[in-house]
Amino acid sequence: THTSTITTPYKSSFVTGRVPVGIGRKRMRVVVTGGAGFVGSHLVDKLIKRGDDVIVIDNFFTGRKENVMHHFGNHRFELIRHDVVEPILIEVDQIYHLACPASPVHYKYNPVKTIKTNVMGTLNMLGLAKRIGARFLLTSTSEVYGDPLEHPQKETYWGNVNPIGVRSCYDEGKRTAETLTMDYHRGAGVEVRIARIFNTYGPRMCLDDGRVVSNFVAQAIRKQPMTVYGDGKQTRSFQYVSDLVDGLVALMEGEHIGPFNLGNPGEFTMLELAEVVKEVIDPSATIEFRPNTADDPHKRKPDISRANELLNWEPKVRLRDGLPLMVNDFRNRILNEDEGKGN
Ligand code: NAD
Ligand code: UDP
Ligand code: UDP
Repeated sequence: THTSTITTPYKSSFVTGRVPVGIGRKRMRVVVTGGAGFVGSHLVDKLIKRGDDVIVIDNFFTGRKENVMHHFGNHRFELIRHDVVEPILIEVDQIYHLACPASPVHYKYNPVKTIKTNVMGTLNMLGLAKRIGARFLLTSTSEVYGDPLEHPQKETYWGNVNPIGVRSCYDEGKRTAETLTMDYHRGAGVEVRIARIFNTYGPRMCLDDGRVVSNFVAQAIRKQPMTVYGDGKQTRSFQYVSDLVDGLVALMEGEHIGPFNLGNPGEFTMLELAEVVKEVIDPSATIEFRPNTADDPHKRKPDISRANELLNWEPKVRLRDGLPLMVNDFRNRILNEDEGKGN
């Protein structure tokens, strides 16, 4: 079900076929690769809400049908089970290219697949954008800055990445994806946009994806100790998913290529994060120290002045206000899991 492919043969017919929506903007046909994942599914919600036709392409490696199931039956929504490493023929106006596992546990699981997704997947989506004249947005990552020697990170910083490390399938993969994006822009005139996303959290994150926010929140709900890796003094800056989705749409609709940092500059050590989770979820929560993983960046914080100035964008949700918004979703899924096990 919901897997039919649009077969409009020529660019002109879907460009002139756009239907006016509201004042001053046309209804778009938009593809979201990775749209069944955490960020993608929130983006799909926003695009459907504003009246666009949305096609999700996803191979369900880390995404779930449950994340987009509420759109099944809506004729503006299509879901295609497809791996972006393979070519695909469709006709759309905009391509949001998110397909790629994002959590270290998932992207290290099959590193060769991760780099194929970043390189061949991005190449295919750029080839598609070139053929149909669509605008293409890449979701790159703060990991292109590696273990940064500049703090906070500006878009002009070239990064400090280990090319042969265990994270390189992801961070070098995304760096290559950025290169491909700029080369298709310069060489083939493809309209492109690049977002460098910093750590993002919210409802629909995978429960056991190993990311620090999902781990701490799930652990606090399950009454298990929160696992702090290393000394817990490393820092990250955490952005609520609705802020990110607003930034991605502003970037796609705006005039500027980027790259743009999209993140919340509020910087926390992992110990401070555990403290906030304790305050907002369970005052009796405890912590437990574990050895850290290899090549873990010591600190990370975006300088967002470029996005602020050129996209008129800034995050609105503070960590303290965002964390409670994911608790119900996590609680329900943990409860369902337990029932599934017969507990
Ligand atoms: P996610 O793992 O929840 O979603 C990724 C989606 O892509 C999943 O639905 C997965 O099934 C799909 N996918 C993976 N490989 C695919 C393939 N070969 N073909 C088709 N579909 C495939 O991750 P997310 O947090 O939603 O991240 C979305 C994007 O944002 C990723 O590109 C990620 O690198 C980027 N990003 C996210 C964060 C963050 O904190 N969430 C930070 C930086 C960058
Ligand atoms: N591609 C795709 N869908 C399209 C057009 C291209 O998946 O509608 C793929 C194509 O199979 C190729 C990649 O995108 O592997 C790059 O395409 P491009 O035309 O830039 O390069 P070429 O095919 O000439 O190598
Ligand atoms: N981390 C932690 N406990 C966990 C999971 C992660 O202390 O249960 C730490 C991890 O070592 C890293 C930080 O939290 O320093 C962020 O890790 P995450 O995997 O969420 O994202 P990334 O490393 O990609 O920023």
